[in-house]
Amino acid sequence: VLHEEGHLDCNEVAAEIAFHNPKIHFVWNSTLQEIKGKEEVESLVIKNVVTNESKEVKADGIFFFVGMVPQTEFVKDLVACDKKGYIKVNEKKETNVPGIYAIGDCTQTFLRQVVTSAADGAIAATASERYVKEKKQIDAILTPDSGKVAFLFYNPYDSAQIDVLTKMEEKLGETYHVIRQDITRQSLLYERLQMHNVPAAAYYENGQVERIEESL
Ligand SMILES: Cc1cc2nc3c(=O)[nH]c(=O)nc-3n(C[C@H](O)[C@H](O)[C@H](O)COP(=O)(O)OP(=O)(O)OC[C@H]3O[C@@H](n4cnc5c(N)ncnc54)[C@H](O)[C@@H]3O)c2cc1C
Repeated sequence: VLHEEGHLDCNEVAAEIAFHNPKIHFVWNSTLQEIKGKEEVESLVIKNVVTNESKEVKADGIFFFVGMVPQTEFVKDLVACDKKGYIKVNEKKETNVPGIYAIGDCTQTFLRQVVTSAADGAIAATASERYVKEKKQIDAILTPDSGKVAFLFYNPYDSAQIDVLTKMEEKLGETYHVIRQDITRQSLLYERLQMHNVPAAAYYENGQVERIEESL
C-alpha cells in the first residue's frame, strides 16, 4: 500500500473486512519495484517510499492493480489533457474539439467506476447524436447563398422570453428568414458564438455572421 499504515483507498467497509482477513499481510508506505523470477514469479522487490529502503519478498504470483496512468498518449496532441494525462471534458463529455467526446477512466472525473463510465457513455451518445443533427441543420441553413438569416435564442421554460421572441419574429419576419433556437436542446450555434444570455439574436448574411444582439 502506497499510503501510511491503516490508510486504504477503498471504502471503509471493504477496508475493515480486509484488515480482519488473516490471509492478508499489508506492507505500508510501499510500491512495487521489481518482479523477479525465471519461468514464473519467484519474488518481488518492494520499496518503502518513506525510507527508500527496498526488500525482497517471496511470492508465487502477482495480481496487477492496473494503476492510475491514463493511456491517452495517442490523443494528447488532438484534445486538451491535464498534466496527468486525463482528457478534459465538460458536462456533455465534449472535449475542447467540437465533435470529439471522451468518457470514463481516461477523463478528468471525480469517481472512476463501471457505473460512472457507463453513464458517461450514455451522456456522450446523446450529446454526440444531437451535435451531428444540429451541425447538419446549421450547415444546411448557413450557405453562401442563404441570404439574411436571424437565429433567435431562447429558453422555453421562461414564458416572458417566448413573448419577446414572438415580437421579434414579427419585426424581423419581412427581412430575415427567422429560426428559433431552444438553447436547452439546440446549443451548438449559441456556444459556437460564445453567447451567454437569452433571449438573444444572431444575424447572418450569406452564411457569415453580421452581428449579435444579447439583450433583446
Ligand atoms: C483492479 C481494479 C478493480 C476495480 N474494481 C471495480 C469495482 O469493483 N467496481 C467498479 O465499478 N469499478 C471498479 N474498477 C474500475 C473500473 O474497472 C473502471 O472504472 C472501468 O472499467 C472504466 O471503464 P472505461 O471504459 O473508462 O475504461 P476501461 O475499462 O479501462 O476500457 C478502456 C479500453 O480501451 C482499450 N484501449 C486502450 N488504449 C487503446 C487504444 N489506443 N486503442 C484502442 N483501445 C484502447 C483498453 O484495452 C480497454 O479495453 C476497478 C478497476 C481496477 C483496475
